[in-house]
Amino acid sequence: MGYVRFLLSIAAVSVFSACAGPNRLGSNNLGAGIDPNSASTVASHTVPGSMMSKSTPLATARTVAKITSVFPAEKLIALTFDDGPRPYVLFGSKTVHRGPGLADILDQNGVKATFFVVGWRLTPKTWGEPKHEEDIGVSCLDAAEQLIRRGHELEDHTYSHLELRSAEKKNGEQWVMHDVDRGAQAIKAVTGMQPRYVRPPDWILTDDARRDLQKQGYRVLTISSENPMPLRDVNSLDYLCAGKAVGCPKPSLPDAVLQQVEQREKKGTYTHILAFHELSTTAAIMPRLITELKARGYRFVTLTEYMKLVEPKPGEMLKQHAAVTRPIQVATLTQ
Ligand SMILES: [Zn+2]
Repeated sequence: MGYVRFLLSIAAVSVFSACAGPNRLGSNNLGAGIDPNSASTVASHTVPGSMMSKSTPLATARTVAKITSVFPAEKLIALTFDDGPRPYVLFGSKTVHRGPGLADILDQNGVKATFFVVGWRLTPKTWGEPKHEEDIGVSCLDAAEQLIRRGHELEDHTYSHLELRSAEKKNGEQWVMHDVDRGAQAIKAVTGMQPRYVRPPDWILTDDARRDLQKQGYRVLTISSENPMPLRDVNSLDYLCAGKAVGCPKPSLPDAVLQQVEQREKKGTYTHILAFHELSTTAAIMPRLITELKARGYRFVTLTEYMKLVEPKPGEMLKQHAAVTRPIQVATLTQ
């Protein structure tokens, strides 16, 4: 008996999601140690993408031997990096922190990213913290200008990089508002544009300050499960892999990030804001991570593009991912 090969077409369904459920972490929780499984958004649909899910009716009806071609829903990654600009990370170093530059890695892979920069760095002649960082002869300001020229986006990680809840306790909410604004002004001086997104250091911010920043037009990034999963940062935990690397996720940082992505996919989320830091150890894993995510059908976009595609417009439901109406062609083998 020979093999009979034929193609079947199925149409994947549009997928929309409900917002967050009862499993709340609260808006002020730290990112470290967050279990991405704690999110309560429930998915209830066919999984599009490069692999068939076990629950796909077609897969249970026949032996799927090989997927010849798929037309996945739009799967998006907004790659973000905090704490820079750090010239020695962006452009590489031949001495202390040997390795290729993050900006070159992104260019080589055709990826545009979003950098949550610290305002104090964007002052003339500053190249970083002399104690921990390496002077490669490029100032942070020059580095920021380079990022813009290469098509990346700069957003606000405050001016001081102080933990804002403690700072508010000490100095009052106005101080916090001013620190965010001062960071925004420093960015605007480089880009000519007012940044729209703020990621507070360690995601820590009081509810009052969050509300007031939002009133002023800022969008505050969060890991709180009170927000729908696509609008919630994925904490890569990459800072645990720097220095002595105590607590670096196992078996490796890229594997752990891919696992988080897979766990979100199981809940029906195919759009992810990945939160990293400007660290040499993080730059080193990017080629593999980007390659793997592209192989899984992901497209890389800046945060502004991401929000345009994912964030609901007034009167709309949240788009878990774009509607899929195109067929998925699957080659099957039967005996
Ligand atoms: Zn930070």
